[in-house]
Amino acid sequence: MPVILTMVVTAAAVLGFTLWSTANIDERAVERQTRMVAHVLAAQRDQVSHDQESVAVWDDALFATKLSPDLDWVDTNLGIWMHDFFGHSRSVVLDGGNQPIYVMENGAAAPVDHYGQVAAAVGPLVMRIRQLIAAGGMTQYNLGRKTVPPAVVEFAVVDNMPAIVSIMPIVSDTRDLVQEPGSEPLLADILFLDGAFAERLTDQYLFENARFSLTDSGDPGKAVYPLLNSAGRFIAFFEWTRDRPGQTLLRHTAPAFALAFLIAVIVVFLLLRQLRRSSSALEAGRIHAEYQAAHDRLTGLPNRSSFDVRLAQTLTERQTAGAYLSLLMLDLDRFKQINDTLGHQAGDELIRTVGQRLRATVGDDMLIARLGGDEFGILAVSRERQINAIALSNRIIDAIGQAFELNHFKAFVGVSIGIVHATGGSAEPHELIRKADIALYEAKSAGRNRAVVYQEHMNELLQLQHTIEAELRDALKQTDQLSVVFQPLVDQQNRKVTGAEALARWNHPKYGQISPARFIPVAENTGLIEVLGEFVLRRACELGAKAPGRDIAVNISPTQLRNPKFAMLVFDILRQTGMRPTDLELEITESILLDDEHISAQNLQTLRASGIHIALDDFGTGYSSLSYLKRYPVDRIKIDRSFVNQLAPGHVSVAIAQAIVTLAHAMDISVTAEGVETAEQADMLGIMGCNTLQGFLFSAAVLPTKIEEIFADPANALDRKGRTKAA
Ligand code: C2E
Ligand code: CA
Ligand code: CA
Repeated sequence: MPVILTMVVTAAAVLGFTLWSTANIDERAVERQTRMVAHVLAAQRDQVSHDQESVAVWDDALFATKLSPDLDWVDTNLGIWMHDFFGHSRSVVLDGGNQPIYVMENGAAAPVDHYGQVAAAVGPLVMRIRQLIAAGGMTQYNLGRKTVPPAVVEFAVVDNMPAIVSIMPIVSDTRDLVQEPGSEPLLADILFLDGAFAERLTDQYLFENARFSLTDSGDPGKAVYPLLNSAGRFIAFFEWTRDRPGQTLLRHTAPAFALAFLIAVIVVFLLLRQLRRSSSALEAGRIHAEYQAAHDRLTGLPNRSSFDVRLAQTLTERQTAGAYLSLLMLDLDRFKQINDTLGHQAGDELIRTVGQRLRATVGDDMLIARLGGDEFGILAVSRERQINAIALSNRIIDAIGQAFELNHFKAFVGVSIGIVHATGGSAEPHELIRKADIALYEAKSAGRNRAVVYQEHMNELLQLQHTIEAELRDALKQTDQLSVVFQPLVDQQNRKVTGAEALARWNHPKYGQISPARFIPVAENTGLIEVLGEFVLRRACELGAKAPGRDIAVNISPTQLRNPKFAMLVFDILRQTGMRPTDLELEITESILLDDEHISAQNLQTLRASGIHIALDDFGTGYSSLSYLKRYPVDRIKIDRSFVNQLAPGHVSVAIAQAIVTLAHAMDISVTAEGVETAEQADMLGIMGCNTLQGFLFSAAVLPTKIEEIFADPANALDRKGRTKAA
């Protein structure tokens, strides 16, 4: 727009200036021509008088007109001469009494009475010259001080035609012939300012279409010069086609001008278009780059940075608008295993699908962002009331719990969700995210695949995490803080207790019970797990020695298994406590099967060869683990509790659990279901053919003395074989 406007203004200015200057040039030209006309006409007038000198100041002429009249001579030397040589139209010779003695009309002598036609114009001038002479006008000439006698020349209208009229006395050029003053004959000459005269001016001075007229034609293309006599009386107009050099110039240069302008317009247009194209390409590039910077490439969802920006925005807006805001942090469970076993492409595909499912479940009103690897964030803003984040989370958990089709395999992941509500007052985005993260951590420690709403005490627990290492180190030296409890394992068919799983407990003097889900990872990361593990193993074996025939399960972490001396340690403890190796069951996690540690495999082999049972804990991530079972034989798998709690009639988990049980049995592997909380779950697992059940439905973990009581209960008496084995 500005460029076009500038062009138009410039063009208008150039055009205006050009027109103004051409008009100016034309104006000047007319002024100059007018001055020239005045000058030329005055010169013409004076010329007529000058013409007369050549004949009027001449002794012969005075003889022929006065002293010895000879009209033939006069005709030849005055009349015809004046006509042919100077172009005068009429000549008249008047005697001393002002009577005409000779008249010439158009080059020929005419009757004397023709003087009447011009007398009206000539008469007054005759009077003027007579007065001049009477006033002593001849004195200067007669004394020889002047070469020319007095004369009168004037513009006048003669016979309805503009003309120059000139009158001069006929005098002696030698001054030998003396006349009485006042008696001089007069020569009157008339030059009509007619077409022929105008033509001559046209030729000599390059006026175009010049003419004299008594009226103004009013033609704007014509320049007009009013011809006045010496008394200032109007005689005629001199009219000619005005010279317009400006317009001529314009006419000649206009096409070139227009062409140049047109070219300029085209060039500017092309430049503008190019500019526009490149700027719109630039703009598109900018938008694309902005989009890329704000979005995750894999899912097309907003990324962490745009999530942070939106969160901060929403929080500031909320202060004025007073809306409700809930923040959900999502983290996929078991995603790493999928990635490791099925490959990154499958992992990417899974993340993409998760993104789609989230969108489909949550709807378009809430902001969903991918915050990192397998982390997502949801921002729910509502004007009316707090959204039901738990209900939403349950819908999400259901949606993500459905099978994923990856590389023609079905895979399963869970999702843990941390929720925080921004209530009242102002909230810092970082603070909110931190709280949601704490809730998420809480959801994971509580067994994954669930949602937890942030509560203030969680924060305190988290603070504890930092000091936990030092505290745990201390606790391991004490005797009163760490202990081992046992959770009964129940035979599915007769519901008798067949054994128990040893679980570590930490009763902190200040914080009370600390969950193993919280301190076991710290112990693993710091190497304290070796001491802790040995402690639990020893306690378990002590119990096992007292209860032969019962399965005593102990959780073993990967770090322990990677120690080359681990198998020897187990044998030492068995020997020291007197427990039978066949009663001991070591629970390992799937991650051990995934890592290619030679030592772990060796340990497992050695332990198993001695009759110790190996159980695969937290089983349920899908197909892949079963193939590993061929390489690392185990005696039992424990279907993960997060998987068990999904069991409901018609749910896909039922079919999968069934498949796991069937496959395990086909490989001569026992199946335990952990986390059994309801009779329905127990029944379904029974129908599937699960061998052993474990969960709060039967009993939580109990003190060693209590488990001994349970074992001693006749209702739990061992049958003849001592244990229930897979079919
Ligand atoms: P895990 O091996 O899967 O142990 C079972 C966990 O499930 C126990 O939690 C138990 O209390 C809980 N549980 C049992 N029945 C139910 C039920 O019906 N519903 C629910 N929701 N939970 C149930 P706990 O004792 O908090 O242990 C957590 C985890 O800590 C254990 O999971 C295990 O991985 C680890 N852990 C515990 N003690 C040790 C240990 O001595 N050594 C090692 N390496 N890990 C241990
Ligand atoms: Ca376990
Ligand atoms: Ca488990």
